[in-house]
Amino acid sequence: MAAASTLKVQEASSSSSFQKPSKVAKAPFDDTHADVILRTSDNIDFRVFSVVLSLASPFFKTMFKLPQAEKEENPVIPMSEESAILRTVLLFCYPGAEPTFDNLDELKEVMEVMSKYDMGSVGQRVRIHLLNFLEKEPLRVFAIAACYKWEDGARKAALRLLNEPVLTLIGTQIKELEYIPAAVYQRLLDFHRRCGCAAANLTKEPRWMDATCIWFTCTVSACPKHDMPLTLSDGQAHWTRRWFMNYLDSARVALEERPTKATITNSALMLPHVIKANSECSSCRVSAALDLTSFAHGLFSQEIDRALSKVELDLKL
Ligand SMILES: [Zn+2]
Repeated sequence: MAAASTLKVQEASSSSSFQKPSKVAKAPFDDTHADVILRTSDNIDFRVFSVVLSLASPFFKTMFKLPQAEKEENPVIPMSEESAILRTVLLFCYPGAEPTFDNLDELKEVMEVMSKYDMGSVGQRVRIHLLNFLEKEPLRVFAIAACYKWEDGARKAALRLLNEPVLTLIGTQIKELEYIPAAVYQRLLDFHRRCGCAAANLTKEPRWMDATCIWFTCTVSACPKHDMPLTLSDGQAHWTRRWFMNYLDSARVALEERPTKATITNSALMLPHVIKANSECSSCRVSAALDLTSFAHGLFSQEIDRALSKVELDLKL
């Protein structure tokens, strides 16, 4: 970051003769009572109150304390930023304003400017907007959050990235990865792998299940059984149906790749096994679809949440 003292404060009238005349920014930065003018690289003058800038930025606070050769009434501070970005940055400094962002590039640029001018508390408000891009660009959100050492935001992005297979993640090229250490990226991939193991293990250890669903209660002797009984939450061994075990096998493979609730509630995962149940047993046919849907959206989803919450993510940012 440039030192405050390196910024040259000059008079409005001292801009070079070959430069186009500056224009005044739109409200609220056209206030004639403001005591400082920030002139952007595209020659727009933002009239601002030094006290507002000082509250938002220790950088500007220090600069305004510096002695000036001649005390000017409305000093002009040349800025390297363009007006569109500076306007958003300044709006966040003013009470009541809450700008929104159409794209992540704009948000990232605003965060960079705020970091440059040491606007810590305002920057914390801005970074919340990163989460609006979690669905569309989770890896970029992760990298930006990591870059600004925002652990909570990076974790939210890491959880969202569980919807993507690791190989897809590795194949995704984004410029923000240039700015985070390889060790942080490796911890993200390792977190994904450990979540995959934790979620998949639920299908191998069924002690969290109860015996209320049709695949445990079916009494039709012709309905194909799994070759081993399962020990459930009541500590008792229960026979179950082969079609349900095949669903659990499919769920395990899918969870290793994408360890999320969306994986096991996907109807494409359930449907082949419901069809199998319908074709094999008159009793399972009645309840298989409803019971499996309830199980996936209910108990199975809760267990996935529980298992994932135990997987630690220490990015060491
Ligand atoms: Zn059956």
